[in-house]
Amino acid sequence: MSERERTFVMVKPDGVQRGLIGEIVSRFEDRGLKLVGGKFMRIDRDLAEEHYGEHADKPFFEGLVEFITSGPVFAMVWEGADATRQVRSMVGETDPAESPAGTIRGDLGLDLGRNVIHASDHEDPGSNEREIDLFFDDEELIDYDRVDEGWLYE
Ligand code: UDP
Repeated sequence: MSERERTFVMVKPDGVQRGLIGEIVSRFEDRGLKLVGGKFMRIDRDLAEEHYGEHADKPFFEGLVEFITSGPVFAMVWEGADATRQVRSMVGETDPAESPAGTIRGDLGLDLGRNVIHASDHEDPGSNEREIDLFFDDEELIDYDRVDEGWLYE
């Protein structure tokens, strides 16, 4: 079985404004992933620029920072087997228009600049831990057993 790990996920301001927090949380809960941290918060410019630092030289960077700081977000940490890759497969492609039905972006979005959710990149090893550290202190992450874990894993 794949190793259990933690991954970072965030409902972006458009997802919060459109009332999609519950729908998105439900999808991960139903899959069997375990919520170990959650924070409803407003991202300031410094945090936005650090989080999206790899895109600093891209033409969409300024608009992205404006958007992500424009309203509250819901930041989360989810834990489970191969969590980063599994979450990304549930999120879909960066552009909702290219995302298959059944994925979060494919079901809930239409536009690249308003793609509802962020999730750590499984093709960038360590990005999950970097992003968790950026948004959460250690004591904000809770270790516990979910009662169904014995039925989720062989
Ligand atoms: N983005 C954008 N325009 C683009 C490419 C990306 O607005 O042409 C935004 C979009 O919100 C995306 C984020 O920048 O989610 C980060 O881009 P990345 O390529 O890391 O995609 P992701 O990992 O979110 O799928």
